[in-house]
Amino acid sequence: MLRPYTYLDKDKRNDILANGDKRDYYEVLGVNRNASDTEIKKAYRRLAIQFHPDKNPGDKAAEDKFKELSEAYEVLSDPQKRAQYDQFGHAGLGAGGFSSGGFGGSPFGDIFGDIFGDIFGGSRQRGRGKRGDDLQYNLEISFEEAAFGMETTIDVPYAKRCDTCGGNGAKPGTEPKTCPTCRGAGQVRFQQGFFSVSKTCSQCQGEGRVVEHPCSTCRGTGSVRDTKTLSVKVPPGVETGNRLKLTGEGGQGTKGGSNGDLYVLLSVRDHSLFTREGNDVVCEVPISFAQAALGCDIEIPTLEGPVKMKIPEGTQSGRIFRLRGKGIPVLQGYGRGDQLAVIRVETPVNLNKRQRELLDEFARISGEEVHPLRKGFFDKVMDIIS
Ligand SMILES: [Zn+2]
Ligand SMILES: [Zn+2]
Repeated sequence: MLRPYTYLDKDKRNDILANGDKRDYYEVLGVNRNASDTEIKKAYRRLAIQFHPDKNPGDKAAEDKFKELSEAYEVLSDPQKRAQYDQFGHAGLGAGGFSSGGFGGSPFGDIFGDIFGDIFGGSRQRGRGKRGDDLQYNLEISFEEAAFGMETTIDVPYAKRCDTCGGNGAKPGTEPKTCPTCRGAGQVRFQQGFFSVSKTCSQCQGEGRVVEHPCSTCRGTGSVRDTKTLSVKVPPGVETGNRLKLTGEGGQGTKGGSNGDLYVLLSVRDHSLFTREGNDVVCEVPISFAQAALGCDIEIPTLEGPVKMKIPEGTQSGRIFRLRGKGIPVLQGYGRGDQLAVIRVETPVNLNKRQRELLDEFARISGEEVHPLRKGFFDKVMDIIS
């Protein structure tokens, strides 16, 4: 049987941290989060003209700014990428998530990417599907939910096929036509030194078809943003850092490529009474000095409510009582851990006159025989100094 969870690997974690340094894409374009596609396009156009490398030759800052603008626009102009970004931030776009589009990270690098990508069997050839991105959803659960499992639903954004145009991106009543540049092949061949090189057609981006009259609903992309509700089943015994994998619920694949997967990363909230050590639950139990000396029956909390426990007379602070099988179920296995009740004997404070008198009297009539630990300790001290 396959385990329905995996651990967050170190590389993935680094990606997320690295991506966290990026500036917010909406901020980069100076638009608010509800901006329409038209507003985003306008903002990008205005800024791209201002910072274009042709207008600012040799200006490194302008070049960086232009790259940042292009990256932000590539994501926010694509309904699927925008939906992923809105929900998951930069992490939702995955490592290298910007390598597929026409606006590459570098305004000068695209043509080289095309040439070498094709020579070395890159993924731009027409007809080869691209797998969708893997996404991560962070889910916070309580200590009890981690122990006993739970079911919940999460809302995940995704790109839905546009109903207006049926997904082909063309305005109703029109059809996409065969690309005149590549005559539908998606690739154009040209001579590069001794090589005959094929390059992705720049007019149709390798699709082989171009939309002359774009659908106004989806702006010609064929998909619109929507949200789907998924149910998530968290098994008993999970802990912070465990991931649940929802196969095929990640980013949508293109051109017949499979969908990415959605990973639900769990983080478990701290509990006010319990901490966890492996599958054992640790709980500190304060008792009074009199209870410890005389023994008593107390109720102590467990994950399934209070249970009665007998404290024997003469219990010392720090003693641990083990309640078998009251801990956390073994993840994907059988059995449960224990609960460890750690006794803390509390020294009484804020004594009134009468309480003081009683303790004074107790001290006067108590010899060494009632404090064996202390007797042993002072005997050792005497051995050292004599
Ligand atoms: Zn459409
Ligand atoms: Zn073409």
